[in-house]
Amino acid sequence: MERIVILTGAGISAESGLGTFRDKGGLWTRYDLGDVATPEGFARDPTLVHDFYNARRANALDATPNAAHQALARLQAGWPGAVTLVTQNIDDLHERAGSRDVVHMHGEITRALCAACDHRWPAPRVMAPADPCPACGAPRARPDIVWFGEIPYHMERIANALWRADLFVSIGTSGEVYPAAGFVEEAKAAGAETLEINLEPSRVPGLFDRVIAGPASRAVPGWVADILP
Ligand code: NAD
Repeated sequence: MERIVILTGAGISAESGLGTFRDKGGLWTRYDLGDVATPEGFARDPTLVHDFYNARRANALDATPNAAHQALARLQAGWPGAVTLVTQNIDDLHERAGSRDVVHMHGEITRALCAACDHRWPAPRVMAPADPCPACGAPRARPDIVWFGEIPYHMERIANALWRADLFVSIGTSGEVYPAAGFVEEAKAAGAETLEINLEPSRVPGLFDRVIAGPASRAVPGWVADILP
């Protein structure tokens, strides 16, 4: 049975009201990434970093999954082969649409991580630098997010899935942040067909065998309806 690996990015959550990196005037453009999305930034000003992620957590919790998240959940439930759903997104919209076993390679906004002992727990809606770790008590709570300069989660599992994939599908990602940007080449090298679904298809011609251009909320349900038996 065909094995599908899907990689989603900020574009799949755009129509749920969560901004992408490049949205004009969006949350990301008002902050310097080096200040809010690096371990060095967190060491310099943990309050600024918590404020940034508290705002992102509020946005994510108040958002609802859109038709693209729902279509992928239908695909996972109805596809006779394996579907590995990898996301760069830190929101939980795939899960709330009904997807199971979502591989969050960049962490999750709904989880907290102790910088002292690595314990993880469900994040409260608002986090602060002095929040004590429930396991060791250290006031070193951070969002469980993979920052620039840190190693993404689940890379071995993702590499195994790409190696065995028959079809690799990239949805709503600009393909500019590595290592995720390299997944299409890994899948191709392993013999998979490659498909991109994006509002603006990636600029490298020939990287994907096939491209479906359009908003995720229309393009993804259309593709899922086409392939579901
Ligand atoms: P990106 O902002 O670099 O690219 C977004 C992509 O989505 C673009 O290619 C754009 O053409 C496409 N897009 C925009 N609206 C779309 C729509 N309605 N339908 C389909 N495609 C659409 O985002 P990225 O590639 O995911 O960048 C990676 C980084 O951004 C990751 O580190 C990720 O954690 C972070 N990020 C995550 C969120 C989130 O969790 N919701 C939001 C912003 C950024």
